[in-house]
Amino acid sequence: MSMTHVLDQIAEAAGYLWQKGWGERNGGNLTVRLDSGCDTLCQQNGQPKETVPIGMTLPNIAGMYFYVKGTQKRMRDLARDPLANGCVIRIADTGDSFTYATAPVPPTSELPSHLMVQDYLMRSGSRYTATLHTHPIELVALSHHRAMLDDTSRPNRLTQTLWSMIPETLAFAPLGIGIVPYEVPGSTELAEATMAKIRDYDVVLWEKHGIFAVGQDIMDAFDQVDVLNKAARIYLDALAYTAVHPESQPEGMTENAMQDVQRIFHLPKQRPC
Ligand SMILES: [Zn+2]
Repeated sequence: MSMTHVLDQIAEAAGYLWQKGWGERNGGNLTVRLDSGCDTLCQQNGQPKETVPIGMTLPNIAGMYFYVKGTQKRMRDLARDPLANGCVIRIADTGDSFTYATAPVPPTSELPSHLMVQDYLMRSGSRYTATLHTHPIELVALSHHRAMLDDTSRPNRLTQTLWSMIPETLAFAPLGIGIVPYEVPGSTELAEATMAKIRDYDVVLWEKHGIFAVGQDIMDAFDQVDVLNKAARIYLDALAYTAVHPESQPEGMTENAMQDVQRIFHLPKQRPC
């Protein structure tokens, strides 16, 4: 995929995040790994080679280029101009720092989470290139309910609830959603807790905060969050009916109906490479 196409896709996704109300002010951030085809373009835009430490060593992404949203930058602005509200960085060959490959825009404070996951994706031979953090309203609302954070079974309770809302949730988010207990935003603890879950899930819920997702490209990551949040919205709307009619609880699809979806769509139980 050309760098121009990737930037167009990033701008499109950023516009959706803003329109959905998931990217208030500077909320949310993203990275996308660029292929080696961007070398020439980045060299043409080359900047003085200021070296910025990452704070960790990530050998599997050494020498690679990433588009990274800028800190304090707004999704609604990024939708109009990705390279004024983010930039391309090149990870040093030592894996412990980066240089700016386009006009410098200091990266998001969540860079540790994004780059640790990108390093893991490369190490595991994945084709996934994109990481996304955003604040989907209904999923964050559910993360305020302790019962929805029960992660002791697989699928966990939140996944089971969301899958049972409409067949497409299971079909298009077959790995479900992982749960990451609350940690301080931008912290190494949050990055490490995210890493522990992203091995099994494409989408994880940061308790009382937001979502972290991975995808083959940024639109793929967005789509999975969109599908899961739609199910959360349906669940909350169904509960609104219960508020008026307490005798009626949302039924959800039956176990048999969900097994039919799994069988018909040949759904994977782990991330395809
Ligand atoms: Zn956030």
